[in-house]
Amino acid sequence: MNLIDIGANLTHDSFDADREAVIERAIEAGVTRMVVTGADVEHSRAAIDLAARWPGILNATVGVHPHHAGDFDTAMEAELDSLLGQPGVVAAGECGLDYFRDFSPRDAQQRAFVSQIELGIRHGLPLFLHQRDAHEDLIAILDEFHGKLPPAVVHCFTGSAEELDHYLERGFYIGITGWICDERRGHHLLDLVSRIPADRLMLETDAPYLLPRDLKPRPKTRRNEPVWLPHIAETVARARGGTTKKLAEHTTATARTFFKLGN
Ligand SMILES: [Zn+2]
Repeated sequence: MNLIDIGANLTHDSFDADREAVIERAIEAGVTRMVVTGADVEHSRAAIDLAARWPGILNATVGVHPHHAGDFDTAMEAELDSLLGQPGVVAAGECGLDYFRDFSPRDAQQRAFVSQIELGIRHGLPLFLHQRDAHEDLIAILDEFHGKLPPAVVHCFTGSAEELDHYLERGFYIGITGWICDERRGHHLLDLVSRIPADRLMLETDAPYLLPRDLKPRPKTRRNEPVWLPHIAETVARARGGTTKKLAEHTTATARTFFKLGN
């Protein structure tokens, strides 16, 4: 098996003690490539540094998560602009809107989002999108860029059939996490994943968050790792009525094309 984890927060401090081992474990489990999420300037820079140490295995995204949008200003925009041009960077984001937590004022979230869409366009990089409880505003902002948008993936999709259709109509890609393994809140995704065309579906762990809830035996820690991506792939393949091998093939091919990974 040859899987790509399109969203792993490997610069998170929960990996400080054993980051190398985490990456090696993942590779051994068939997760041969990981895209390290940048969610603020500091961690975007760290993601670039980490990716430089694992060429052909790790890549980085550069962005500011809506939680941190309150700090977004022109200096930060300039910093993102320069980081987006660094080697190993394959997407702008994560960026978007999060009205579930509302850690930053909504107008600040919207400004930071628009600015990062513009940066993605300028750098010719795809967008790595985060959305929670903000579907309509997210769509409205993206629609203003109609005809100019680079490819975009809605990472950690957890929404409804209607929301999924809005994304697919617009040509967006969908990232599925271990949320689908959660019998309490992810059950609806088991029905929905079949609606996603094979060439628009990608897989991610969102590690260290979202440890799949149905792992047996249950790991001793709640920290999620890319090593669990094959488990997510199995769940998604079962829900789509196909083999894990086939799913691995097309999700990997899609991620390679989307992030322009080459080899
Ligand atoms: Zn996110």
